[in-house]
Amino acid sequence: MVDDSTIRMAVIGGGIAGASAAYALSGHASRPRVTLLEAEGQLAHHTTGRSAAQLIENYGARPIRPLTTASLPFLRRPPEAHWDRPLLTDQAVLTVGRPDQDDVMERLLASGRAMNPDITEISPREAGRLFPPLRTDLVSRAMIEPGSSDIDVSGLHQCFVRGFRARGGEVAVLARVDAASRRGAGRTGPCWLLDTTDGPYEADVVVNAAGAWGDLVATRAGIEPVGLMPLRRTAFMVASRWPESKDWPMAADAELNWYLKPDGTQFLCSPADETPSEPMDAKPEEIDIAVAIERINEITTLDIRSIRSSWAGLRTFVADRSMVIGPDPDEPSFVWCVGQGGTGIQTAPAAGQLVADLTLDGSPGPLFDGIELDLSGLGPGRLRA
Ligand SMILES: Cc1cc2nc3c(=O)[nH]c(=O)nc-3n(C[C@H](O)[C@H](O)[C@H](O)COP(=O)(O)OP(=O)(O)OC[C@H]3O[C@@H](n4cnc5c(N)ncnc54)[C@H](O)[C@@H]3O)c2cc1C
Repeated sequence: MVDDSTIRMAVIGGGIAGASAAYALSGHASRPRVTLLEAEGQLAHHTTGRSAAQLIENYGARPIRPLTTASLPFLRRPPEAHWDRPLLTDQAVLTVGRPDQDDVMERLLASGRAMNPDITEISPREAGRLFPPLRTDLVSRAMIEPGSSDIDVSGLHQCFVRGFRARGGEVAVLARVDAASRRGAGRTGPCWLLDTTDGPYEADVVVNAAGAWGDLVATRAGIEPVGLMPLRRTAFMVASRWPESKDWPMAADAELNWYLKPDGTQFLCSPADETPSEPMDAKPEEIDIAVAIERINEITTLDIRSIRSSWAGLRTFVADRSMVIGPDPDEPSFVWCVGQGGTGIQTAPAAGQLVADLTLDGSPGPLFDGIELDLSGLGPGRLRA
């Protein structure tokens, strides 16, 4: 039941960050009234629908890694009421280095084992057994990381949205927030008035989960930006001529100059590019695809000559490559959930819950018991002078 004391919250952005935050906020004991506002006609149209869908615990800036760890229980066992199939499928990651990358491999092994003790160095020959197209004569060192998984990204996103709706949350598409101002009287004082392409909305609290557009949304609300940098990454699919390739690990270069992920009867390929971009509907550039094909054809016998489909998405970072989660220090009714970078899918359950905990309770809740969270490495305050 909604009464005058029910807090009204607007989450801006219907990608994985906004959907997970909306889900967690709507599950809070105080039963806030939450609306998810999405600019496009469908949710997850931008970066969330364009990822490589991999979970790698040993990946991302230090403050982000506990969020991946805290997300594992949800990802391994999603709430049955909202999702009845597994979200994860085991898929190890094989990292390979040429002779000139021996030092890089040494560092990767040391830092990787500190996070995941099951990471093992294997011989180039063993690497070739696990990933047969690999040209093992060019490989000097290799390591395998078990415990990684493919993520059903669409399933995870749908799980959040179904759960959110079941908890009484409302989703508005074609509702781009063009301006936001504090005025009038809300539950605890002035409230936010949002001008959107779907008409005006009022909210006591606004959560900014607008991905690459996060700083734009902040500026439109009169909030100081955090310095978001959208970086374009390209991906494309090629056919596999190995019927058994779906069971192979993902393979990546030691310095991430390329990666290859078996996906059904295809391989997802990427040059792991990071080209600065404005916030936009990103498109792949032919040159980035050509670079990836050249690098992958050099180190494997894939002999890529044609591609089946291609896309690009914006991975959005701040300067230290950690996320930005929590109430703004100058205006706590404006809450940040941006900077998801290259780990926004694998961290979503915990990132969304942390937004809800910090916004409605002021500190991390039971999900984070026993997990060493570095809140100063996640909060927006660190990005202010
Ligand atoms: C090629 C590639 C590979 C990747 N691989 C992985 C991976 O293996 N594992 C992993 O965890 N992550 C991966 N990522 C990163 C992951 O996809 C992102 O971190 C994540 O999707 C970001 O989600 P988001 O919700 O912040 O952004 P988005 O999905 O872009 O959502 C932001 C939403 O906000 C909306 N919006 C913007 N402005 C407004 C406004 N004014 N009003 C209303 N709505 C607005 C947009 O329309 C958009 O829908 C990859 C990304 C790419 C591109």
